[in-house]
Amino acid sequence: MVRLSLTVALITSLAACGGDKEPAQIAKASVSTQNAGDNRVAKNLFGYKVTGSSQTSQPIGGYARGCQAGAVQLPETGTTWQAMRLSRNRNWAQPRTVDFIQDLSRFAATQPGWDGLYVGDMSQPRGGPMLTGHASHQSGLDVDIWMLPPSQLDLNTQQREDLSSISMRRASGAFTNSSWTPQHEAILKAAASDPRTARIFVFPGAKVEMCKNATGDRSWLNKIRPWWGHHYHFHVRLKCAAGDANCTNQAPPPAGDGCADADGWVDRILNPPPPDPNATPRPRRGPLTMAQLPGQCLSVLNN
Ligand SMILES: [Zn+2]
Repeated sequence: MVRLSLTVALITSLAACGGDKEPAQIAKASVSTQNAGDNRVAKNLFGYKVTGSSQTSQPIGGYARGCQAGAVQLPETGTTWQAMRLSRNRNWAQPRTVDFIQDLSRFAATQPGWDGLYVGDMSQPRGGPMLTGHASHQSGLDVDIWMLPPSQLDLNTQQREDLSSISMRRASGAFTNSSWTPQHEAILKAAASDPRTARIFVFPGAKVEMCKNATGDRSWLNKIRPWWGHHYHFHVRLKCAAGDANCTNQAPPPAGDGCADADGWVDRILNPPPPDPNATPRPRRGPLTMAQLPGQCLSVLNN
């Protein structure tokens, strides 16, 4: 069979991230004729896969339009982490993401008041679009980490369903509240300083606070990105790695520490601009179909 590959620019829209908004992205994805004309709704297929594919591990496509081959599970409990909400079966990711989470949790455990990390949603066993929440988290490179400092790492399955994280914001995200600590900043800094990460999403007031408190080298602030929501958890996004033939990186954040941009976010929260009467409403997109995912996602699904 002849497989034609063409590269198209895909602009994905905003969608929910566990009740919060999730980053939009402009990504290039390889679209193959392998699944051309396949109008099945992808979330209705990927949302019911309960195990990973037995293929070589690789992220496929973009964060908001992709899937993952050969995913592994973050063990439900480690010495410095616990996966939360196990009923969702979203503790799957690429092996490098699991390594990263374990490394960051070991750092977190050095922080006063933190036994490690409570880990929220990662990806589905084969990635892809989800039945609920999250536009991204599709390629096994995204992870949500709770803002709640873990005080015990022996929670049972039911406790992991019942416990909730806590919000760090006040004034709709313009400022941090009294739950925010230097330890949160240290953990976010560690995540942003890791060469494996591409972006860390957090509410605007937290970025402004980190801009205020940063001393010395400020280059790590570049990856800390203000975004809607993200006050109960922060969201770490890893880069594609060298050798990932089918993984689509996002354009890197604009150069600089991004602190002026974060001030702008806060200004707009405190003084919302009046609605533009000439604004054209964003067209509502339907759910992603198999034909809109990279061709390799069909073999991931069918493996
Ligand atoms: Zn997220």
